[in-house]
Amino acid sequence: MRTPLVMGNWKLNGTKESVAELLNGLAGPAAKATGVEVAVCPPAIFLGQTEALTKDGAIEFGAQNCDLNVAGAFTGETSAVMVKSFGAKYSLVGHSERRTLHAETDEVVAAKFKVIQDNGLVPVLCIGETLEEREADKTNSVVEKQLAAVIAAHGVAALENSVIAYEPVWAIGTGKVASKEQAQEVHAHIRQWLAAQDANVAAKVQILYGGSVGPATAAELFAQPDIDGGLVGGASLKVADFTAIIEAA
Ligand code: 13P
Repeated sequence: MRTPLVMGNWKLNGTKESVAELLNGLAGPAAKATGVEVAVCPPAIFLGQTEALTKDGAIEFGAQNCDLNVAGAFTGETSAVMVKSFGAKYSLVGHSERRTLHAETDEVVAAKFKVIQDNGLVPVLCIGETLEEREADKTNSVVEKQLAAVIAAHGVAALENSVIAYEPVWAIGTGKVASKEQAQEVHAHIRQWLAAQDANVAAKVQILYGGSVGPATAAELFAQPDIDGGLVGGASLKVADFTAIIEAA
């Protein structure tokens, strides 16, 4: 059975003060939550603070992005080795904001996936279609292509030690959450498509839903058979909202 995972992606938000407030506020609810794993992905500059404030182990954490390189003359970047050295468990890879705003292609995402995994972190591979692609009935082919890039580069077995996050681009930060039927349909498709290549990987891999998840929609989304938790943006910045989402899992 897959353990549900509720992960907050803080994106480019927070200060030293607000990070302390948020992590201190989540400590109690996360410690109380049973049968669900809780994780946060702060901006890299707060990884040390996050490590210090999550010592009891109730909250796991990860990076939002890692560079392709692990060391060297790459000004401004953060490497998987650095992230791992703070005790992080995860790194997001291929978030739609990285794909669009930082021109990360499927090939770059696949290469980063491997660097993250090879350095002891669990990659959280973000995939999902734009509104235009959904309206053109291309949702399945888009997510297949995004997954296929990783599989072509590293084999389907590489997905065993990873998490997949299905985040329809049209639902991210828009308040327009996918319905539970829409989300389940894509999650089921992803799992079936993977099962045709490796049944074991398909059965094991957690597939999170992301895109405007909030306290009002979390429970019905997480109740779907192929939705194993959520990747939460805006609502993960508020203690009360994120707590309610954790409780819904
Ligand atoms: P929102 O929950 O703010 O829509 O963000 C979703 C997301 O992009 C998480 O990675």
